[in-house]
Amino acid sequence: MNKSACSHSGGLPSFEVDEALRDWIVAIRRQLHQHPELSFHETRTAAFIQEKLAELEIPSVNGFGRTGVIALLGDADRTLPVVGLRADMDALPVTEETRLFFGSGTPGIMHACGHDGHVAMLLGAAALLQRHGKIPGRVKLIFQPAEEHGNGADLLVKAGVLDDVGAVFAGHIDTHFQTGQITVDEGIICAFSDPFSIRIRGRGGHAARPHEATDAIVAASSLVMSIQTLISREVDPNRAAVLTIGSFQGGTVNNVIAAEALLNGTMRSTDETTRDKTIRGLQRMVIALQDMYGVQAEIAFEPGLPAVVNSRKAAKIARAAAIDTTTVDKVISQGQSSLGAEDFAFYQQRVDGCLVRFGGALSAAAGPAHSSTFDFDEKCLEIGSRWLAHVAWRWLEQAQASASNKGK
Ligand SMILES: [Zn+2]
Ligand SMILES: [Zn+2]
Repeated sequence: MNKSACSHSGGLPSFEVDEALRDWIVAIRRQLHQHPELSFHETRTAAFIQEKLAELEIPSVNGFGRTGVIALLGDADRTLPVVGLRADMDALPVTEETRLFFGSGTPGIMHACGHDGHVAMLLGAAALLQRHGKIPGRVKLIFQPAEEHGNGADLLVKAGVLDDVGAVFAGHIDTHFQTGQITVDEGIICAFSDPFSIRIRGRGGHAARPHEATDAIVAASSLVMSIQTLISREVDPNRAAVLTIGSFQGGTVNNVIAAEALLNGTMRSTDETTRDKTIRGLQRMVIALQDMYGVQAEIAFEPGLPAVVNSRKAAKIARAAAIDTTTVDKVISQGQSSLGAEDFAFYQQRVDGCLVRFGGALSAAAGPAHSSTFDFDEKCLEIGSRWLAHVAWRWLEQAQASASNKGK
């Protein structure tokens, strides 16, 4: 079995998951799945995580970044390096339709992104590390609220979660890939996300006398269509970008010309050049709309999410840990960067880090992430636990080795 040969080479622990631990991890996932909580409301989830950490005799603190749970394990020596492992813990406002016997017990809320699995994986990793004993440093377990909301990570970073941390690692379950596969990539793997709103002001009037009014809806409609040419005609076709207007509001009744229209949208891009160019294009078109239709128009960008950028150094350790966990042929690339966003990016703006994906494909009956029928193969849970334990171990060993080299 080349898996264990890899695992034991260089004296690394193998972090095998036995049946009792496997059952423990799966039971955690199912418990959480049954009791999903929305961003910043994860109080029951947090208490449950603390209970499970207490079973492992790992002390933890609650209420970090509102509803987060943080725990430290490993050597008590505060001078030793610290590596962060992160799991997000929130659910989505989706009504579950999976028919799982452990389906959501809360109407309108569902773990439809696999964050229940991420928490179970991280607790499994904590068990593996704790069981092994002598950790070459310290491991900070970060159970993060509000990933879906988009600012849980930002809040934790501002609260100082990374102040003593040298690098952060995390994984996301992905049903586009088979169970056992782990994707590891260097560079951008999740897009920049830039939400914006556009307000268009015309002049109201009678529906039958357009010449006495300035129709905000006609101007806004034209803009919705025009901005798509930024993607089709101005962005390099070899680069990815998306412009979506997700909400269009304007007018009141059928016989009044609307004086105002409001558009809300999001822009996604995977490189700085495309991002800058598309932002400038949007601004240009909004300004031009004023002359075209005689309206007033303004665009406002809201704080978005930076891109997830895996550093070369962190990706190298993540890849080695993936080979420790699975077989070399199953350590793959995710291919192109996703146009989805991930607030893991906020950690990476502060320290080195790498986000990987754990394959967890089920039958075609299971829907995609964020859908009411989303589900994943629970066999991926132990793979996630093992990878998290391995990556923490490898990073700490390397940090210790480079510290002692510097000391020479
Ligand atoms: Zn999600
Ligand atoms: Zn997610």
